[in-house]
Amino acid sequence: MVRLSAWVLAVCSAAHGAGPQKALIVDGQNNHPWQATTPLLKKILEDTNLFQVDVATTPPKGGDMSAFRPNFAAYALVVSNYNGEAWPQATQKAFADFVNKGGGVVIVHAADNAFPEWKEYNEMIGLGGWGDRNEKSGPYLRYRDEKFVKDNTPGRGGSHGAQHEFRVDIRNPTHAITKGLPPSFMHAKDELYDRLRGPAEHITVLATAYSEVSTRGTGEHEPVLMVIGHGRGRIFHTTLGHSPEAMSCVGFIVTTQRGAEWAATGRVKQTVPKDYPMGQVSTRKLD
Ligand code: ZN
Repeated sequence: MVRLSAWVLAVCSAAHGAGPQKALIVDGQNNHPWQATTPLLKKILEDTNLFQVDVATTPPKGGDMSAFRPNFAAYALVVSNYNGEAWPQATQKAFADFVNKGGGVVIVHAADNAFPEWKEYNEMIGLGGWGDRNEKSGPYLRYRDEKFVKDNTPGRGGSHGAQHEFRVDIRNPTHAITKGLPPSFMHAKDELYDRLRGPAEHITVLATAYSEVSTRGTGEHEPVLMVIGHGRGRIFHTTLGHSPEAMSCVGFIVTTQRGAEWAATGRVKQTVPKDYPMGQVSTRKLD
């Protein structure tokens, strides 16, 4: 009887997701300071008490990538802070299998620059930039009449203007990630990615930011937070997070935490904290 109770308890606790789930941050190559930002992402995730975080680091650029074989299947969530050389075929397949079987993924900032040639990765991220992306990579997503429409106009995929503070506008307030958040937040100084292109399938844009021409932007409401479905997997993609300063923004922290929980579990139980930014930038010390 005791044994049965313990078994029932174990099953119930697994079913209700009690206790932290395992998450993996992937880094090792990036045109951004991943050595500084990975510890911040780890803290952001672990501060939710929902995740216990490991880090898998690739060899540096030009190194022997053949031994980079993380066991993605052991995790509920993979967070990419990686923008570098191609992974071995077997690692790409293991990552795609992980997502197709229902794994959660968070794509942070320049992780959407990675792997321009990897078709399935681009389906997972929905939109990407740089790496010679252009009209062959897929359409732009443009905000027109309160909807997002595909725009196949030829042109480059991915650029940004000068870094600055900008407002992020929630465009889908009913998704689990954004439900209960104020309609906008002021974001700390960051790059505002624009002109991203990609397959843009099974994608829902949750938030945009207006890319001002005066900061060398596009004059468009650019997608900055989005979710993508791929197989049975869920992907949360944030274009925010260029630097430690950008990651210290409570808007970045909270949307990343909520996006991570949703990607891993399909729901969000976190509440909106009191320091969530409204009219002005709000930051937290993470290190
Ligand atoms: Zn950047």
